Amino acid sequence: MKEVVVVHYSELGTKGGNRRVFERKFAEDVRRRLGPRALKVRLDSARVIVELAPGTDRADIGRVLDPVFGMAWYAFGYLVPWSSENDGLSEAESAAVALARAEPVVRTFKIETRRSSKKYPHLSHAVCVRLGDAVVSATGLRVDVHNPDRTLYAEVLETEIAVLSHRVQGLRGLPQFSSGRMLCLFSGGIDSPVAAWLMMRRGAKVDLLHFHPYRSSDEVIGTKITKLFSVLAGFNPDLRLFLVPHDRYQATASLHVPPACETVFFRRFMFRAGEEMANALSYQALITGDSLGQVASQTVENLMAVQTELSVPVFQPLIASDKESIIALAKKMDVFDLAVQPYKDCCSLLAKKPKTNVDTALIRRLEQELDLRKMISESFEAAQLWDGRTLRSFPRGKVKE
Ligand code: ATP
Ligand code: MG
Repeated sequence: MKEVVVVHYSELGTKGGNRRVFERKFAEDVRRRLGPRALKVRLDSARVIVELAPGTDRADIGRVLDPVFGMAWYAFGYLVPWSSENDGLSEAESAAVALARAEPVVRTFKIETRRSSKKYPHLSHAVCVRLGDAVVSATGLRVDVHNPDRTLYAEVLETEIAVLSHRVQGLRGLPQFSSGRMLCLFSGGIDSPVAAWLMMRRGAKVDLLHFHPYRSSDEVIGTKITKLFSVLAGFNPDLRLFLVPHDRYQATASLHVPPACETVFFRRFMFRAGEEMANALSYQALITGDSLGQVASQTVENLMAVQTELSVPVFQPLIASDKESIIALAKKMDVFDLAVQPYKDCCSLLAKKPKTNVDTALIRRLEQELDLRKMISESFEAAQLWDGRTLRSFPRGKVKE
C-alpha cells in the first residue's frame, strides 16, 4: 500500500488536441513544487498521482499544493494494485479502514467510487458496498449517503485503486505557463496585484513593471512593492519585477502638461513604456488593474485616450468588478494588508481634480510635442530588474529567458 496524494486538474478536458500539453505542464508544476517530498509524480487517467516520500508532513504538502493553478482538488490516501487475478479489493478495504480510523470524531461516512478503467471486473456500486461494509465492521461508523460527516473516495485506475479521503479544493484556472507571456503594470495598490494574479490563474506567465517615485531603484527594495512581489512569486515562481524611476517623466511633464490631464498623460506614458518593453522582450499583452469608473482616469473616454493606437493588447481583468469583490480577492490571495500600506505614491503629485473626458487628440498632440518616446528611452536607461534576491541593471532588449 503506497501513500499518495492524488491531484485532480480542472478545465483541461475542454482543450482538445492541446490537452496533453496542458496535462504535462500541470504535472511538471506539481513535481517542481513538491521536490524531494515526492518519490514519483505521474499522470494517470486524467489526474496526477504523487507517491510520497516516507515521513512527509501533510500540512507541508498542503502548503506547497495550495498555490498550484489549474488544480480542482487534491486528497491524501493509499494506492493499491489490481490485476486480472486479484481485484485489489481486500487491500482497498484495509486502506479505507486506515483512512476512516485516522479521521477525528466523525460518526457517519459514505464511499464514492469512480471507475476510470472500464476493464475493472466490478461496478462502482459493488466497490462502494465492499469498502463501506469493511469500514462499518472495523470502526462502527454508520453509512449516511445523503449527509455524511466524511466521504472516502475510491478511484479505479488502469492497474491500481486509489483510496482517498478529505478533498481540499484548489484555485482552479489553467496550468502555470500555459497561456503566454504578459507584463503587468504594477502600482502596488489593491487592484494591480489582483489583476496579475487573475491572469496568472488563467495560465499566463506574468512579469511586473513598476514606475516608482525614488531616485534609485534600491529604495524600492523592502517597501510594499517587493513584499507584494514575494507573495505573487509564491504563485508564479520565476516572477520578475522591472523597476523604472519616473523622475525623467515628471521633470518634463510637470512643466508642460495641463494639470487636469496629468493623470491620463502619466498613464499614457506608462502604457507606452509597457508597450515598448513588451515589444522588446516578447510579452504578448499588457495587464492593468483598471476598473471602469473607479476613479476619474478610468472613464471610457480616459481609458480610450490612454490605450489608443497601442500595438499590444491590454487585458484588464477587473474592468467590470466592484471594489468589494476586488478586496475579497486581495484578502483571499493574502495581499490586502500589504496593498493598503503607505507608499511614497506618485499619485500624490497628480491633479486633485482630473478631467473625466480627456480628448484622445490632445493626448496624441502632447505625445508628439513632449517627445514621449525619448522620455521612455531615458527612463529605461535607469531601469533595473528584481528577481526576489538581487537587483541588476539589464542591457535593453536582452532580458529574454
Ligand atoms: P488602487 O486602485 O487599489 O489604489 P491600483 O493599482 O488600481 O490601485 P490606480 O491608480 O487605480 O492603482 O491605477 C490603475 C492601474 O494603472 C493600476 O492597476 C496599474 O495597472 C496601473 N498603474 C498605476 N500606477 C502605476 C505605477 N506606478 N506603475 C505601474 N503601473 C501603474
Ligand atoms: Mg485602481
